[in-house]
Amino acid sequence: MPNGNVIRGARVGSAPMRPDERHQPAPRQDVSYWCRNDHRVDIRIAADVEPPTVWDCPRCGLPAGRDAQNPPGRVRAEPYKSHLAYVKERRTAEEGEALLAEALAALRRRRGGE
Ligand SMILES: [Zn+2]
Repeated sequence: MPNGNVIRGARVGSAPMRPDERHQPAPRQDVSYWCRNDHRVDIRIAADVEPPTVWDCPRCGLPAGRDAQNPPGRVRAEPYKSHLAYVKERRTAEEGEALLAEALAALRRRRGGE
């Protein structure tokens, strides 16, 4: 989980931190995002801040959304190829095919359900 440093620098729409605020434990909320490469991004932000709908994935730079089953960008045509390329990189061909079949089945279920 290499997200600690990324999170600390990311402040969402708030005023610059005053020195004395640094030592007070402000209420926080943990928010998770998923990009379409199945990267999970955990961020921690102030509890009174509305979490952004999209967060840039620190691993691949793609936008990540809060719905793990429906990451942003899926509507575009070419990203699916990069997902497959990613899977092939990381898995054996056999595992990749199983994952692909699984993903396609899930995709069809979603499309059929909507
Ligand atoms: Zn990613």
